[in-house]
Amino acid sequence: MPELPEVETIRRDLEKEVVGRKLKEVTVTGQRAVRRRPAEFKERLEGRKVVGVDRRGKYLVLRLDGPDVLVIHLRMSGQLLKASAKDPVDKHTHAVLAFAPPGALQVRFVDPRTFGELFVTTPDELGSTVPELADLGFDPLETPMSWERFGLLVRSRKAKLKSLLLDQTFIAGIGNLYADEILFAAGLRYDRDSASISPQEARRLWRAMTEVLTEAIKARGSSLADEQYVDLFGRTGRYQEQHQVYARDGKRCLRCRATIARVRFAQRSTHFCPSCQV
Ligand SMILES: [Zn+2]
Repeated sequence: MPELPEVETIRRDLEKEVVGRKLKEVTVTGQRAVRRRPAEFKERLEGRKVVGVDRRGKYLVLRLDGPDVLVIHLRMSGQLLKASAKDPVDKHTHAVLAFAPPGALQVRFVDPRTFGELFVTTPDELGSTVPELADLGFDPLETPMSWERFGLLVRSRKAKLKSLLLDQTFIAGIGNLYADEILFAAGLRYDRDSASISPQEARRLWRAMTEVLTEAIKARGSSLADEQYVDLFGRTGRYQEQHQVYARDGKRCLRCRATIARVRFAQRSTHFCPSCQV
């Protein structure tokens, strides 16, 4: 599933490609991808100009030059792909956003598994339309915060560290893959009690979180063999080449040479080094 680095990569691509462009025609072919207010979807978008592209956790929010915003969540396998009108249409295409002038730029929403979603709402109704967005925690890269403050927040929670990283009401945008990579970089186990973290450990966790996410964005995200993440131009990311623990179970730890383990935790696979994560 695309997490913060992948969604941020697509956000930056969209910002370059569609800001200042007017939506000429919106075509919805897969009704399941536009579940909320499908009848209004086309009408509220056509003729509007995109004035900005924001990211809220794993959601993309395209600001328009009217009262509305276009919200996109890629979920498991959704892709946003730049195309031109003459390009063949993938059979899993659910929506096509065609920009003026006609025949020029298109952005297509392609999703083989149809968990992803697009909808139009207003900024004021965003929180009531998607309760998850109303309760979204801080953004690990955008919210100005000191590591001391971060440490206090972590210690004030009663949770296992990995659960806390995955809790979107605490921190927005981190999923299973980056939680494992961040905890390895910090040298901390997934099942440590957050209240037991020392100030030094909180500082390591803060630094690990910032560095892993920043490096992953630089490498344009992680593309895995069994998943479908590509950027707006259909290119895979490269951060998977730098993964330290994710899907490396049975291989040697790159820090201490112990064997990387995999366990089930919170219904997800967790990868960690039993030796150098404490
Ligand atoms: Zn190790």
